[in-house]
Amino acid sequence: QKFKDGLSKTRNSFSERVNDLVSRYRQVDEEFFEELEEILISADVGVATVLDLIDDLKSEVKRRNIKDPQDVQAVISEKLIDIYESGEEQIGELNMQQNDLTVILFVGVNGVGKTTTIGKIAHKFKQEGKKVVMAAGDTFRAGAIEQLEVWGERVGVDVIKQSAGSDPAAVMYDAVQSAKARKADVLLCDTAGRLQNKVNLMKELEKVKRVIEREIPGAPHEVLLVLDATTGQNALSQAKTFSEATNVTGIVLTKLDGTAKGGIVLAIRNELKLPVKFVGLGEKVDDLQPFDTEQYIYGLFA
Ligand code: GDP
Repeated sequence: QKFKDGLSKTRNSFSERVNDLVSRYRQVDEEFFEELEEILISADVGVATVLDLIDDLKSEVKRRNIKDPQDVQAVISEKLIDIYESGEEQIGELNMQQNDLTVILFVGVNGVGKTTTIGKIAHKFKQEGKKVVMAAGDTFRAGAIEQLEVWGERVGVDVIKQSAGSDPAAVMYDAVQSAKARKADVLLCDTAGRLQNKVNLMKELEKVKRVIEREIPGAPHEVLLVLDATTGQNALSQAKTFSEATNVTGIVLTKLDGTAKGGIVLAIRNELKLPVKFVGLGEKVDDLQPFDTEQYIYGLFA
């Protein structure tokens, strides 16, 4: 239900327009596809993805000899699910270590909802009975450490920190030792998100990652890139920047509740081949949901 509510803005604009399209046309022709293309592009599905999708739809409609526009809607859902499920990455699941420490690194630009997401995920793990530690790796942005501490208090999780301005790699080293000493199940690592100096930030992230790798072979087990759905195609270019610099394993897409352009999920999938693991559907602690392809796609039309 949360998932459905969170998508209501996207659904309202998207399904309304598709329904309207389907009811206005008597047959599935070139013009029909052109209008559909426009609707998909304005939902931020991304031009390249839309073109693939329309091609696919055309051949499927021809193959099945579909004449009635009403019947195209089901094919659209099928094709959207196909796009999303192509690829081998796990969808909506995290690579968790059994009986051992799992380290999750969160990266992303300031303001996308990184700290909030870490707080929400910490809460989720705690509810599952796991022992969680958080690392305040954004030593650069004023207030970032305190903000993580507020979340720590709220959800009852310890935060490992150093003073503002200190070396994030040193914070990570400390955090890994503390997490091990406490026999924690999960270590959630915040990182800086200033994009003013891209090269510096990417170097910093690499160093942070190296420290974690050195201390725990195989870690970090996930590198989750947090993206703000309301920034549309901008989110896509951020994703490109980050995945060039570091091995991103999945996406958390925040603020899906605040946009009518939830099609960005499909663009991320089709153009970057990265799975969306979680979606943020509000500001509260339980407003984070594992991504579910079918719920999402049907949520666009339901
Ligand atoms: P950071 O700079 O990336 O750490 O971003 P913050 O975690 O401080 O979040 C920035 C703002 O976005 C805050 O006001 C959050 O409450 C808000 N926010 C984060 N996630 C969501 C979400 O899923 N939905 C909505 N509506 N707001 C969110």
